[in-house]
Amino acid sequence: MIKVEEKLFQNRYRVDNGRPHISIKDADLCLYKCEAQPCTYCCPAACYTKEGDGSVVLITDGCLECGTCRVICNEHENVDWEYPRGGFGILFKFG
Ligand code: SF4
Repeated sequence: MIKVEEKLFQNRYRVDNGRPHISIKDADLCLYKCEAQPCTYCCPAACYTKEGDGSVVLITDGCLECGTCRVICNEHENVDWEYPRGGFGILFKFG
C-alpha cells in the first residue's frame, strides 16, 4: 500500500521567494494564548512546527492549499491566508 508521504512526494511546489502566501499574524499569541496549537499537528504538509520554546514556526513551502490551518485557527483567527500568486505554489501531479 502506498503511504501518504510517498504521494506527497509526487507533488511539485514552486516557491515565491520572499512572498509566503500564509503568515502568522501575531507569533506571541501562538506562544502565550494558544495552548493546543492545532496547526502544528493538523497541517497535512507539516508546514507548522512547534519549537522547543513553545513558539510556532511556519514555512509555507509544500503547502497543499487545503485551508485546514485557516479553519483550525478559528478560535484566535491568527492566520493570514491567501492563495499563492499565479504560477506559484503547489502543482498536483496526479490530480
Ligand atoms: Fe498546511 Fe493546508 Fe494550511 Fe497549507 S493550507 S499550511 S497544507 S494546513
